[in-house]
Amino acid sequence: MTIAPEFPHTAETRLPGIQYTTLDEVLRQRISDSPAIGRIESAEAGLLLHTRSGVAHLSESPDGVQITLCADRPDRLQLLRDGLIGVLSDAMPGIADSLRWDDLSGAGLLPPNLHFATVQSVSPLGKAFLRVRIKADDLSSFQDDAIHFRLVLPPAGLRDVEWPHVKENGATAWPQGDKALHRPVYTTRWIDHDAGLMDFDVFLHDGGRVTEWAGSVRTGDTVAFMGPGGGGIPQTDRLLAFADETAFPAIARIAETLPVSASGKILMMGAGAEACGYPISAPEGVELNWIDPVAEAELAEMALSAHADKADHYLWFAAEKSASQQVRKGYKQHGGDPQNAYIAGYWTRGQ
Ligand SMILES: Cc1cc2nc3c(=O)[nH]c(=O)nc-3n(C[C@H](O)[C@H](O)[C@H](O)COP(=O)(O)OP(=O)(O)OC[C@H]3O[C@@H](n4cnc5c(N)ncnc54)[C@H](O)[C@@H]3O)c2cc1C
Repeated sequence: MTIAPEFPHTAETRLPGIQYTTLDEVLRQRISDSPAIGRIESAEAGLLLHTRSGVAHLSESPDGVQITLCADRPDRLQLLRDGLIGVLSDAMPGIADSLRWDDLSGAGLLPPNLHFATVQSVSPLGKAFLRVRIKADDLSSFQDDAIHFRLVLPPAGLRDVEWPHVKENGATAWPQGDKALHRPVYTTRWIDHDAGLMDFDVFLHDGGRVTEWAGSVRTGDTVAFMGPGGGGIPQTDRLLAFADETAFPAIARIAETLPVSASGKILMMGAGAEACGYPISAPEGVELNWIDPVAEAELAEMALSAHADKADHYLWFAAEKSASQQVRKGYKQHGGDPQNAYIAGYWTRGQ
């Protein structure tokens, strides 16, 4: 079945022995709890789930549920498949174990969204960041609609590294225990598709494994990463944005992509504030403010009250998890439109 012609990569499977209505309820509840995942549209005999990675069609079949996924690229198809299996498994543990997909000829292969790159350079950026430039064969999936990825770092010193593989049910299996891989999320700050080059900026913080990695990696070393994923550049010309250091790269990329006529406000929170020297440029009508760190609850309050004043603006908020949770809750209580906001926890204190 072709759900959308612009998405040529498809995968089909059947989930036997389950009522379609049960699955329908589970998915609708999940999307209502986490609107960032995507949007549901009712479709003939089922539903369409539109996500950033592609579209999933779920419908009633004689013996259970028919699932069709489609995406514009193989790596996004795998992201969609992993996401759907994750949602199904959370709601009904074990349910996805017996899935078999028509597009997978065998288990054990590397997931198509795992990429390998060569480190080109690591250079200081202001006082608190390192900018890492990498080169990879194919970065064509990394576009403005999905500006994040996961670094995939083996434990330091491990000789026989195990990479993830695709399981028989299509899910990505990750090595466990001593071989577990560190998979923090980063932002594509700059990309040159023709040259296969990509920059990301690492905020340096105590005890950070990526801080340690970026400080010791050498030109020519190989690095693995998985993506793309996460949010994209919002299509808006009225923006209210709040970011701590981990979100400076994302907001800097968004700010430079806004239309010149854009208006609004960006608040950057970090130690030393503007003096930390992180470069950002925004259209004239977008006010840039820098503040030294405040408590998470205070940052959340600032965002909510700014949004109360300018409810027609797109609200973009990314910082420590507890602040994001508070903003998400307040935004929902104030009746904010989930399609007009991006509210994300970028790191967790004390984890
Ligand atoms: C969508 C998304 C995009 C992101 N983009 C970027 C990016 O472009 N650049 C960037 O630097 N980060 C970014 N982050 C945040 C980054 O993924 C986290 O900070 C991550 O924990 C870093 O991993 P680590 O190996 O440095 O720390 P870990 O080794 O995982 O953690 C070690 C300790 O550091 C603490 N810690 C983690 N982050 C911070 C922090 N910011 N300040 C103080 N303590 C901290 C942890 O609580 C833990 O106690 C992004 C996160 C998300 C979700």
